Amino acid sequence: MTELKQQVEMHPQRWGNPASATDLPDSARGLIEMAFGLTETPADASVTVPTSALSDELLESLRGVLGAEHVHTDDETRRLRTRGKSTPDLLRARSGDLSDAPDVVVRPGSHDDVAAVLAWAVEHHVAVVPFGGGTCVTGGLAARRDGYAGLVSLDLIRMKRLLAVDHESMTAVLEPGLRGPEAEALLAQEGVVLGHYPQSFEFATIGGFAATRSSGQSSAGYGRFDALVMGLRVATPRGEVRLGSAPANAAGPDLRQLFLGSEGAFGVITEVTVRVRRLPEVKVYEGWRWESFAAGADAMRTLAQAGMLPSVLRLSDEAETAINLARPDEIGGESAGGCLMITGYEGTPDAAAAKRSAVTALLEGLGGTPVGESAGESWAHGRFNAPYLRDSLLDVGVLVETLETATFWSNRQALYDGVKAALESTLGEGTLVLCHISHVYETGCSLYFTVASKESSDPLPQWLAAKAAANDAIVAAGATITHHHAVGTDHKPWLFHEIGELGVSVLRAVKADLDPTGVLNPGVLVP
Ligand SMILES: Cc1cc2nc3c(=O)[nH]c(=O)nc-3n(C[C@H](O)[C@H](O)[C@H](O)COP(=O)(O)OP(=O)(O)OC[C@H]3O[C@@H](n4cnc5c(N)ncnc54)[C@H](O)[C@@H]3O)c2cc1C
Repeated sequence: MTELKQQVEMHPQRWGNPASATDLPDSARGLIEMAFGLTETPADASVTVPTSALSDELLESLRGVLGAEHVHTDDETRRLRTRGKSTPDLLRARSGDLSDAPDVVVRPGSHDDVAAVLAWAVEHHVAVVPFGGGTCVTGGLAARRDGYAGLVSLDLIRMKRLLAVDHESMTAVLEPGLRGPEAEALLAQEGVVLGHYPQSFEFATIGGFAATRSSGQSSAGYGRFDALVMGLRVATPRGEVRLGSAPANAAGPDLRQLFLGSEGAFGVITEVTVRVRRLPEVKVYEGWRWESFAAGADAMRTLAQAGMLPSVLRLSDEAETAINLARPDEIGGESAGGCLMITGYEGTPDAAAAKRSAVTALLEGLGGTPVGESAGESWAHGRFNAPYLRDSLLDVGVLVETLETATFWSNRQALYDGVKAALESTLGEGTLVLCHISHVYETGCSLYFTVASKESSDPLPQWLAAKAAANDAIVAAGATITHHHAVGTDHKPWLFHEIGELGVSVLRAVKADLDPTGVLNPGVLVP
């Protein structure tokens, strides 16, 4: 089947496609100036990558394993494979800190290539960091390197094939290096869709979605990524694991779940079998206004518990609605107040219309006010733009970051209050804390916070203190440390609270069995 060719690389100090970078919109500029003042904080462009620590002999043997053309030691490639895209990652890159740069970047073309690199890494005790799209926001690409002969970035960029489609079972087998749009383009040629649209869709990959248990903007309708995965092929230092011989089974614990969310610490995912659906014939998005966040949240709960979820369902709180973050193209523009909910319907015309009519009746009955398709279309149009705005804000001295968690419905308000208070009290007066409900379930929902504050002279510790306070508040509220961003290195100190001592010991045992010499993503995920 078709193999896709070259791809755009992200700017090493910013989010996304360099060609899509935009200045702060005029509407937002005034608002930001009033709230925080504007201080130009240019990034340090004269950044040098540390000298590679890998010996010439090891490099030569690596070239023998993979072919010299797939082994890259040039500064630019190593720089582009350094860390992920959290605000701390960007702050470090902007300040010229590239201390986590890999010594070498290798580009395997197949499962067997990956297995060969792992065997080489075990033999020479070299750390290996699987690299998908590089959109990680939890430090999952910043592995420990002390005690190792070097650190290799295992870049899956060449593994971009759609291997098979089973139109009868509605499954497809994808290679891990396919970015979201590339995977959907290949699937569309077959008349099917995966339906996974995280905000990082443009750059994140199939392997990364599986390795982090990602969740997308249409997950209410299509399901989280882990719910879409039917099978996996994984290369580990101990050999190959293939899982997923049936849609469901009772053959002991489901080992697919062990590798989903394993963040490159247990193995490298080399194939993913996903559930697909027919390409939607229509996509309709619309807006609803609610008197309060609580009223909108209750309506979402009612929809979920009635089994009537649209494909897209999200609700901004009063503060997020007021600055129009739900509609990034109109940020700072006039808002009608209350709380904005976005609903979306995708599928055949009949199915979408039937779902829409049932949801409309229910939401109207609960006191929601429809505000029309323009609000929904505006959200859909700007849905991938907010991360570009983060760079524009960092450029003018505004510290911006997001964080997410989830809890049961009965604990939603306590979690919301606790996290908001922790962020406001750590970052101080004038800090803007915005929130939306990004995903809903019958039993609960996830809360996604966006934080903006004036940068101090040293913004990295400023943010790390706020993030630690938010994590403590999440743990104190009994919620999860992450609903979809994964653990990486950043959430690891809090994982113990979530899964307990015995849970951590199970993770360690699995790691020790699959990766006995600890070469895979050292320091990531497993405490
Ligand atoms: C602006 C922005 C918006 C985001 N929005 C969302 C969102 O809406 N929903 C969401 O869930 N997340 C979101 N994220 C987080 C991130 O995009 C996801 O975690 C994504 O799934 C990571 O995919 P990736 O291909 O970029 O993986 P990477 O960042 O390359 O890697 C992530 C982790 O997985 C490991 N890994 C990667 N590929 C493999 C593989 N094939 N086998 C084994 N391990 C592997 C890496 O070593 C690393 O530990 C966002 C991030 C940013 C920067």
